[in-house]
Amino acid sequence: MALHTPTLLVVMLLMAAALGVSMALMVRGDRRDPMRHWAAGMGMIVLTMALFGLRGQIDNWWSVVLGNTLLVACFAWFGEGLCVFQQRAPRRLLLWSPVALMGLALGLMQLVPAPEPLRPAMATGAVTLEVLLLMQLMLSRRRQTSGRGQYFVLAGLLLILLALLARLLALASGTTQLGNLMESRPEHTAVLLAGVLTLLLVGLGLVMMTKERTDALNRTLALQDELTGLANRRAVQRLLDQQLALHGRRQAALTLLLIDVDHFKRINDTHGHLSGDVALREIGACLIERLRGQDVVGRWGGEEFIALLPDTGIGGARKLAEQLRRAVEQLQAVSLAGKQMPLTVSIGLHTRVPADEATREEVIAAADGALYQAKQNGRNRIEEA
Ligand code: GH3
Ligand code: MG
Ligand code: MG
Repeated sequence: MALHTPTLLVVMLLMAAALGVSMALMVRGDRRDPMRHWAAGMGMIVLTMALFGLRGQIDNWWSVVLGNTLLVACFAWFGEGLCVFQQRAPRRLLLWSPVALMGLALGLMQLVPAPEPLRPAMATGAVTLEVLLLMQLMLSRRRQTSGRGQYFVLAGLLLILLALLARLLALASGTTQLGNLMESRPEHTAVLLAGVLTLLLVGLGLVMMTKERTDALNRTLALQDELTGLANRRAVQRLLDQQLALHGRRQAALTLLLIDVDHFKRINDTHGHLSGDVALREIGACLIERLRGQDVVGRWGGEEFIALLPDTGIGGARKLAEQLRRAVEQLQAVSLAGKQMPLTVSIGLHTRVPADEATREEVIAAADGALYQAKQNGRNRIEEA
C-alpha cells in the first residue's frame, strides 16, 4: 500500500508545528529547561518536512543537503534536551558529529555524483545512529526517571528504528531502488507513517516526562521540611495515622518520641538565627543517622522533632531515646562565627502497647505530657508517659 507522500509530509509538518508551539509555550524562564531543546527539535522537523516537500521545485542543495542535515540535527537537539533533563553533561561531540559528517558527505555528493543507493543509505544511516544514541541515553537513566512518559519515548524510538533498519536492509540487498522521496511508494509510506507515529509518541512522552518529574518534585516538597530535609509535620501525621492503623491490626508496639531542643531561644539570641538554623539541621542529621530504616523522624515544628518507632517496646525505646539524647549532647555544632554551640534535648517518650486503640491526638498528647515533665525535671533528660 502506498500513501500520497506529499500529504504525509504535510501531516508531519503540521504535527511537529503543533507540538513545537505547545512545547515552546511550556518553556519556563530558566535557561536550563530541556523543553527549549525539544521545541527547537520540533521546529527543525517542520523545516525538514517543508524542504523535503519542495523537492524538485527548489535546488537539491536545499531540499536534499539541508533537509537531511536538519532531520539529523533535530535528533541531536532532542538528545541535548534529554541530557539537560537527566542533569548530565550534554554529549555534544557524540550527538552532533553525525550531523556534521552527513552534511559534509551530502554536500560532496552534490559536487561529485555518487552511485544511487549511497545518498539515501548515508542519510538513513545517520538518522539510525542518532536514534540509537537517544535510546542509549534514555535506557542508561531509565531507573532514575520517574513515571511512564519515558516508555512512550522509547516506544517511538524503537518504531522508527525498525522502519529505518528495514530501509537500510532493502538498500543493502539492492532489492529496491528508493529514488525520490516524493514518489508515493510503499517503502516511503512505511517510513513516513512510522515517522508520524514516532513524532506523536516522542512528543507526548517528553511532555509526560516533564509533568511526572514536576509532580514527583511537588510531592516531595509537600512532605519535606525545607530546613532540615526531614519529613515535615504533614508527612509525619500521615505516617503516624498509617502506623496506628497497622499497629492496631498487627498487635505490635509503637513508640513515639517528642524531642525538643533545650533553651533554643538562647542559641538564637547568642549566635543569631542563621546559626540557630545550622544547629537545627545538625540535630536533624544526628537523629536520622541514629534511627533504624523502619523508623521515621520528622520536624514537628520550630525546634521540636518527632520520631515514630514501629515495633518498638518500652525497653528498646528507652535505649534508643537515651542514645539520641547523648548523641545530641556530644554534637560539636559550630556557629557561623566559628563558636561552639552546646546543644541538649529533652525527650517525651510514649509507647502504645498492643491491642490499645488510640488516635493520633491521644498518642501525641501523651508524649507531649512526658516532654513537659522532662522540661520540668531539669531538661536534657527523658520522661515516659
Ligand atoms: P525550652 O528548653 O523550654 O524548650 O526553651 P526554648 O528556648 O527552646 O523554647 P522556646 O519555645 O521559648 O523557644 C523556641 C525558640 O525556637 C524560639 C524560636 O525563635 C526558635 N525557633 C523556632 N523555629 C526556628 C527556626 O526554624 N530557626 C531558628 N533559628 N529558630 C527557630
Ligand atoms: Mg525548646
Ligand atoms: Mg518547643
